[in-house]
Amino acid sequence: MKFKYILYGLLLSSVIALSGCDTDNIPHSVAIIHSYEEDYKGYADFNLLLTEAFKKRDVPVDIHIAYLDCERYLGQEELDRMSYLLDSLSSFNPEIILVNDDQATWSLLACTHPLAKTIPIVFAGVNYPDWQLIEKYPNVTGLWDKIDFIENYNVVKEITGDSDLFTLADYTVIDRKIREDLKNTMLQELNKYRQTNHLTPLPDMAGKSLDSLISIEVDAQHIPKIEILKMRGRTGPDALSAFLWRFSKFGNYNHYIQTKRDYTVYGITRLISGECFTAINESFGYNDESLVGGYFTSMEIQADDQISVATRIMKGESPSSIPIVHHKKEYILDWNILKSFGISIQQIPKNKYKIININFYEKHPVIFWSLIGTSSTALLSFIIILLSLYFKSIGKNMLLLSQLKNERNIFLAATYGNRIFIWQWKDKHFIFEESFFKMISAPFSDGVISLSEIMQYIHPDHRKKYFFNIKNYNNHSSGGSMEFIASFTGDYQWWEMKSIPSSDNGDPIKHIGVLQNIHEKKMREEELKEAREIAEKAELKQSFIANMSHEIRTPLNSIVGFANLLAIDTDIDSRERENFVNIINTNSELLLKLINDVLEISRIESGQSSFLMEYFTIGEVFEKVFATNQVLAPKGIDFLKEDLDKASILHVTADKYRTSQILNNFISNAFKFTTQGYVKLGLKSLQNTGEIEIFVEDTGIGIEEASQKMIFSRFYKKNEFTQGTGLGLSICKAIAEKMGGKIKIESQPDHGSKFSLILPQFSPIIE
Ligand code: ADP
Repeated sequence: MKFKYILYGLLLSSVIALSGCDTDNIPHSVAIIHSYEEDYKGYADFNLLLTEAFKKRDVPVDIHIAYLDCERYLGQEELDRMSYLLDSLSSFNPEIILVNDDQATWSLLACTHPLAKTIPIVFAGVNYPDWQLIEKYPNVTGLWDKIDFIENYNVVKEITGDSDLFTLADYTVIDRKIREDLKNTMLQELNKYRQTNHLTPLPDMAGKSLDSLISIEVDAQHIPKIEILKMRGRTGPDALSAFLWRFSKFGNYNHYIQTKRDYTVYGITRLISGECFTAINESFGYNDESLVGGYFTSMEIQADDQISVATRIMKGESPSSIPIVHHKKEYILDWNILKSFGISIQQIPKNKYKIININFYEKHPVIFWSLIGTSSTALLSFIIILLSLYFKSIGKNMLLLSQLKNERNIFLAATYGNRIFIWQWKDKHFIFEESFFKMISAPFSDGVISLSEIMQYIHPDHRKKYFFNIKNYNNHSSGGSMEFIASFTGDYQWWEMKSIPSSDNGDPIKHIGVLQNIHEKKMREEELKEAREIAEKAELKQSFIANMSHEIRTPLNSIVGFANLLAIDTDIDSRERENFVNIINTNSELLLKLINDVLEISRIESGQSSFLMEYFTIGEVFEKVFATNQVLAPKGIDFLKEDLDKASILHVTADKYRTSQILNNFISNAFKFTTQGYVKLGLKSLQNTGEIEIFVEDTGIGIEEASQKMIFSRFYKKNEFTQGTGLGLSICKAIAEKMGGKIKIESQPDHGSKFSLILPQFSPIIE
């Protein structure tokens, strides 16, 4: 036996050390003693509930748990085992003992172990406390789970609709207590009934059995009736089968209520045909005993009540100052078991019962199905909306597509036979209409044609220009148009390609456009141009002849007139003669200059005049022009230059000599028309265009706006008596244009003028 105790004592080593929330506190050592075996199903949950209850109260604890295993030991053996468990606990030195249920509580107080006398004890879940024993222990307090027969009877009636109910009890200590308790309850109920019906109370029923009480008393039918069946004391060959027969569906005892947990009732619920209930928490919630439920102290309440009292003691209250009170109770049902009896959730009164082992959808079927209904309706509506949007967009797209097709057909019809083709530039390839391929006699193959294939049709002179234009399409450059000659039709003709960039949002199509044959238009333009040129030439010739005859006649008249005077008039004195000779010379020079200028302008315009285009720094010309003209500057006028430093770094491509010629002309004009102030030679680089501006600025008479447009016309002189041919600026303009440049004038009458020669840094090569 000793060896057995050592073996079971090992169970004691189940230690749960709880480091509570307050880690600075030393954990309280707590011993817990349970009545049943360690593998009793409820204990795993119950121990967790106990530790959670300590945690909830922020009490750090070091827990040792011992299991009495009461059904294994009887009488003195049970007390010996309890003493043994307490011996083992002594070394752990518990601060408090928490003992659960009737068996362990009774053994603990009855075993007379010194430990049970010295440290506080809190019992819980005890249905029948031994008050005489408890009285001897001032260190003991706890909670009483008094069975409520009447409420449980009501539960059975409410759930099953039946009013037959029985429990099992024989003659053990606990059985006798159950029997006595039930008898007293019934007696009370009977007397209550009699009192309300103004009947005399029953006489003292001590010593009488419950059965006899119920059978004697006619009024018993008016009160809840719970019968107690005895298992023992049945004799005869069919005693057991007759006993079991009573539980079957053919017997009268269909509804059992559990009031104790011992080996005499283990598994009995499996033999009973009707629903089984319980008035205590043992075995409830675990399928093996198939208990529907009842009105009792649940494990949760038992654990919480016990730890609540234990905490008070651990915080310093004396157990004797804490009265023993009833546990709270609750109505609980196990849905798993209820379901197996075909009881629906609607049969259970709302909000009264706590239902365990139930899913949300079983507990609240209406909410669940309405949720499902709502969410599926929402989902369905969502899908319908999506589908309708989808179909709507498809419909819209179809409409757009057919509109697009229509427009394309209209376009094709309009362009049919007109040699107009739409194209796209995509992935460095052109995509053309089928008609284009027909025209160039090439296979259609999806309309794709590469740049190099297209290039073969372009006139060699235009290939370069064409290539650079198309290259720009790749980067969504701005659109535009270009004219070129190509042999798409077999012979070279003029074509025009117009393009616009497509939107740049990841679209592989970079440009779209139209290819159009403009040969006829071009030919007509050419003819018109030629006709205009002929007309212009004729007109020019006429006006030139008119001008020339006038310009030549004036000096020639002077020359002839004064020469004649010299020849015929012998009376002319030497001073006058000299004067006449000077006039003749001046007019001869003017005539010569006129002829030279006319020849020059005609040479430049006809392209006979040669230009030597060089890349040079402006400084080279600038300096020479300045030096040459410095000596020619009239008196009283400052001849200035500015930005010579800049001149030494700025480059142009031009003819040096011609550039000097223009500048000299500007300066000589400025000298001519300026009587005071200054004449300045300067230059500027034009950042926007990359051009170079060389200017001659004066503070002379200036030119009004109307005349500014005329001064580049041939033979124009504002004042007929001004010295000069009136061809200087025309020559300058012709030269500037030949070098790829231009001439600009800014002037204000009486304030001065500024003549500029604007040259590109890189001028085109002149053939
Ligand atoms: P020319 O060869 O006779 O000098 P231009 O063609 O050079 O003739 O000049 C034409 C006319 O432009 C001049 O007769 C004059 O009226 C006007 N003109 C040219 N330069 C200036 C200037 N710096 N200030 C005022 N008028 C000018």
